[in-house]
Amino acid sequence: MTSSGPQPELGAVRPVPPEVIQRLKDVVGPAGYLEGPGEIAPYCVSWRDNWVGSTPLVLRPAETAQVSQIVRVCAQARVPIVPQGGNTGLTGGSQPHAHGGEVVVSTSRLRRVREVDALNDTMTVEAGVVLADVQAEAERVNRLFPLSLGAEGSCQIGGNLSTNAGGTQVLRYGNARNLVLGLEVVLPDGRVWDGLRGLRKDNTGYDMKQMFIGAEGTLGIITAAVLRLFPRPSETQAAMVAVRSPADSVCLLARMRESLGEQLTTFELLRRACLDYAFQTLEGLEDPFATTYPWYVLLQVSGQGAPGSLREPLEQGLAAGYEEGLVLDAVMPSSGEQLRKLWALREEQAEAQKRTGVGIKHDVSVPLSRIGEFIERADAALESAYPGVRHCAFGHVGDGNIHYNPIAPETWTGEAFADEREKVNRIVHDIVSDLRGSISAEHGLGRLRLEEAELYKPGEELDMMRAVKRALDPLNLMNPGKVLRVNH
Ligand SMILES: Cc1cc2nc3c(=O)[nH]c(=O)nc-3n(C[C@H](O)[C@H](O)[C@H](O)COP(=O)(O)OP(=O)(O)OC[C@H]3O[C@@H](n4cnc5c(N)ncnc54)[C@H](O)[C@@H]3O)c2cc1C
Repeated sequence: MTSSGPQPELGAVRPVPPEVIQRLKDVVGPAGYLEGPGEIAPYCVSWRDNWVGSTPLVLRPAETAQVSQIVRVCAQARVPIVPQGGNTGLTGGSQPHAHGGEVVVSTSRLRRVREVDALNDTMTVEAGVVLADVQAEAERVNRLFPLSLGAEGSCQIGGNLSTNAGGTQVLRYGNARNLVLGLEVVLPDGRVWDGLRGLRKDNTGYDMKQMFIGAEGTLGIITAAVLRLFPRPSETQAAMVAVRSPADSVCLLARMRESLGEQLTTFELLRRACLDYAFQTLEGLEDPFATTYPWYVLLQVSGQGAPGSLREPLEQGLAAGYEEGLVLDAVMPSSGEQLRKLWALREEQAEAQKRTGVGIKHDVSVPLSRIGEFIERADAALESAYPGVRHCAFGHVGDGNIHYNPIAPETWTGEAFADEREKVNRIVHDIVSDLRGSISAEHGLGRLRLEEAELYKPGEELDMMRAVKRALDPLNLMNPGKVLRVNH
């Protein structure tokens, strides 16, 4: 996708002038920049290797004041900036374009935990703190920071907020947007907005922090955030449940919520084929059932109580589901090792699918009540257009979010199937749109979905987005060519 993505709207893109590069280096000092091709390369390529860009300079500021100075220099010299966190984003938003006229500002040295206020259930962290470290810091004060996703060992909180990341516990705690009380942001003119308030009530006009959450670096650089913490559950139980269909899984979800309420934290759907791809391509995974079933749900309940206290309520909920014909079979792990093995089936999906063949990824959401219909219609439409296509659907069904990733038929080459990307996207996304869903549930738009967003979003919504972008970043220097095209 290196050259096929939408191009930035920079007029004539020009190289970053040497004197500007020198001024930027002076701002951060010798420890704060990289310019050797080998050092820069990892900042220019995406996790899936499908976006490769170029830059003359990666800046690694160590404090907010340096970020502010960098942005001021860039604004004066009209040099566009690509903010970058852990570089695990999946939509081409985090890498520079191929033309080489942008600088990358990495937040990886902004990694201080500024404050933990256990009584206020908040933690103030800088943007470059890795998500797993945020979770560990919360645990240290016997609290939970519930954002949890496959890339948590590498992604950073600034990137999580900028993509409004979801993950596996959205059902109970909401996505990143719901986990933030305040932000510090370097605005596109270099000023620092100190919005680091740890308040749950603050009705003093527009909620500006929400503008930057999910903006994918197009409105400013998040440098710090006040995060919400939650009571750390003392008891967790899990189950893997075999179900007949996605529609049944949604009915089961409703039943389980009726009986377990807020304690239901995770509800992930997996198609049988996804398990097979994992068994065929990876070592050390086990089928928890003796029989094969068409679909599975991996669910988790958590709450306060003595160890084991949620086992019986979960068993009762599953037994009721069994009587109603929604549950075909179920296993409940009785050790941490068994639980880890069940989760591996879910967490290794990205790797297993990568090894199985070329897939065309979709991160969509539809109302829960339409999930069954979405998968049925998309399967049928793709099967008719591409006989033998290998179906692959899994995801956070509790949030209506399905990763729908058809893989090339075995008789096709990967390249030939990849060439069908636009047509496949159109088939899947037309159905999503018809069901009033979203073409990007949690990964954002970046470059990958920018043009399609123009197709599926109402014109009024695009106009509002452009108005916000123009108001905050009139020079279009913050991650241009990502999320939206200003002059369309
Ligand atoms: C194995 C794997 C599993 C994943 N699972 C999930 C999942 O379950 N749910 C989910 O939502 N995502 C998932 N992702 C996608 C990705 O991890 C998330 O989007 C993550 O939030 C990105 O964080 P990052 O620090 O890597 O950001 P980056 O990739 O560095 O950046 C992402 C975007 O945010 C911008 N940005 C980064 N930092 C800042 C900042 N400080 N200020 C302003 N803009 C900034 C960048 O310019 C870019 O547009 C997964 C990715 C992988 C590789």
